[in-house]
Amino acid sequence: MTRYWCEYAWLGGAAASAGVLVEVDGDRIAHVTVDQPFTPSAVRLDGLTLPGLANSHSHAFHRALRGRTQVGTGSFWTWRDQMYALAAVLDPDSYYELARAVYGEMVLAGVTCVGEFHYLHHGRDGVPYSDPNAMSAALVAAAADVGVRLTLLDTCYLRGGIGVAPNEVQARFSDGSAEGWAERVDAAAHLGSPRVRIGAAVHSVRAVDPEAIDLVARWAHLATAPLHAHLSEQPAENEQCVDAFGCSPTELLARCGALEERFTAVHATHLTDRDIALLGAHHNTICMCPTTERDLADGIGPALALRDAGAWLAVGSDSHAVIDLFEEARAIELDGRLASRERGQHDTVSLLAAATHQGHESLGWADAGRIAEGSLADLVTVRLDTVRTAGAGADSLLETAVFASAAADVHHVVVSGQVVVTEGWHVRLDVAADLGRSIARAWKEATA
Ligand SMILES: [Zn+2]
Repeated sequence: MTRYWCEYAWLGGAAASAGVLVEVDGDRIAHVTVDQPFTPSAVRLDGLTLPGLANSHSHAFHRALRGRTQVGTGSFWTWRDQMYALAAVLDPDSYYELARAVYGEMVLAGVTCVGEFHYLHHGRDGVPYSDPNAMSAALVAAAADVGVRLTLLDTCYLRGGIGVAPNEVQARFSDGSAEGWAERVDAAAHLGSPRVRIGAAVHSVRAVDPEAIDLVARWAHLATAPLHAHLSEQPAENEQCVDAFGCSPTELLARCGALEERFTAVHATHLTDRDIALLGAHHNTICMCPTTERDLADGIGPALALRDAGAWLAVGSDSHAVIDLFEEARAIELDGRLASRERGQHDTVSLLAAATHQGHESLGWADAGRIAEGSLADLVTVRLDTVRTAGAGADSLLETAVFASAAADVHHVVVSGQVVVTEGWHVRLDVAADLGRSIARAWKEATA
């Protein structure tokens, strides 16, 4: 039994509790008691301790694009060209090295579970590796080395657009058919563990035809696995879908049986009122990725309308333009203020819920994301004495964390009962050095 004494901790209520003693047995929280004095038998955690943050949408390799895609001007589609140059060259070894560094950056930011939306499956020209799940195995190994839990959202990606064959880079993403996808994913079952869950994803209605969406949805249903899909990120996707199928992407997913309770829509930026009603009625989760959506000039999604209709919110750093879930969470409210010219549509607790237990739930970990007895023991401690957080009021600690802190204020992280970050440093890795080395290697190969 390990005992942590938290100067302050968020236990789910409207304000932080003081003097919280969290007793951890193995990978679970055994007891939580408040108003306790510090005793030397406990590990002292000064600052505000939060439950683990869930990064519900990640493409690890996009981290290598950071900064580079800001040179000059461009659009979503020119950004995608740069992303494809990178996707063309990664192999299991370089993918592992890059993902390990990126997941390292995530745990330093307080992420205890990541949902990797993984579509880079095969070798060059689409030729499968001798182990057709070699790229998945690279991600699993990277997460294990870092100490972060992983939901591998194995993504079905079959075509370059509606009625368009995959191009030479996209060939690496395709299993040829939904049946081929399912066969490969079934062969990856051994990658699951107490820290790794296998889920399913439909890349988008652009990249997967309705019959294949139906099959992936049925696979996820039978496996009781999370199912994610990019949805209506760009207006062009909606227009193409209406032209081809006479309905919106959300309506198409509904027709294909995808909108089950374990379904998460990623982005959901450009929705009709009927789309919002459908996602709300199914109590789906909407993973908003505001820093990516602003980077790619996608637009601002209807978070408030979705929540009011019955949907849950989660957050993801997606393309990793930055990795900071406080920034993602507050952007839901702050972008909403810009769009509506009203303050206070999402309160601090609902934003924290999106970044913690609602995100974990969307990744298939309903037993994580809360500091509560029986939950997986994830503890993320934010310093309250940095230049950003110093001076926080005792009654506004949560507001300070959500609206003013940064990933760099996280200084201690426990994942499933194991300490992975202490004093702001990863316990095993030099994350910045690993990022520099792995990104340089990827671009050297991409430009060779
Ligand atoms: Zn994405």
